[in-house]
Amino acid sequence: MSRCAACAVAVEGGWTACPLCGAPLSGEATADPFPAVALRFSRRRVLRVLFLVSIAVILASLSVQLLFDRRPAGIGALRSVWLGVVTMWLVVVMAVRKRHNVAKGTVYLVVIAGLLCVYWDYLTGWRAWSLTYAVPIVCAGSAVALMITVRLLQIEVGEHIVYTSLMLLLGLAPIAFLAFGWVTNAVPSSICGALGCTLVLLQLTRAPDLRHELAKRLHL
Ligand SMILES: [Zn+2]
Repeated sequence: MSRCAACAVAVEGGWTACPLCGAPLSGEATADPFPAVALRFSRRRVLRVLFLVSIAVILASLSVQLLFDRRPAGIGALRSVWLGVVTMWLVVVMAVRKRHNVAKGTVYLVVIAGLLCVYWDYLTGWRAWSLTYAVPIVCAGSAVALMITVRLLQIEVGEHIVYTSLMLLLGLAPIAFLAFGWVTNAVPSSICGALGCTLVLLQLTRAPDLRHELAKRLHL
C-alpha cells in the first residue's frame, strides 16, 4: 500500500500523488478497491445526436421521394416520416421543459395531429393515407419519445407505469385501425404495433423498479 509521509496515511489504489495533499506517495501501489464505472451519458450530447439523426432522416426521406417516388396519388410512408420526427421532438421538448403531465400532453398531441390528418384526408377525397401512414407514424414517434424521456429524465416509478401503458396504447391504436379494415397498407400499422410492444418489453426488462411496482399493484 502507498503511504503519504506528509499526512501519515496509507492510500489504497493506483494513486501516484496523495489524494489529500497532492504530495508524491511512497511504497507499492495496490489494486483499486472500487470497480471501474462507465461514465454516464450526457443528456445534452444524446439530444444533439438525436437532433442530427432527425435532420438526416428527414433529408433522406425527402431526397428518396425526389429520386424515386414522385407519384402524386396518396401520401406514402416516406411522406409521413417528417411528421413522426416532429411529433417525437414535440414530446421530448415537452418532457424536458415541463416534466409534469407529459402523458396527457402526448395524448392531446397525437389525437389533434391524427384528427387534423383525417380531416385533411377527408377534404382531399378520402384515400385513407391518414389512418394508413400518418397516424401510425405519429403514434410510433411519440412512443419513441416517451422511451427517450424515461431514459433521459429521472422519473418516479408511478410515472414510469403511466408512460409504459401509454407506449402500449400508442403501439396498439394503429393495430385497431388495421383490425377494422380502415387502412390500405398493413405494413405501417404492423410496424407501429411491433415497435410499441418492443418498447414496453424493453421497459419491463430494463427497469426492475417498474416490474416490482407493477407486481405490487396487481397483487402478483
Ligand atoms: Zn498527503
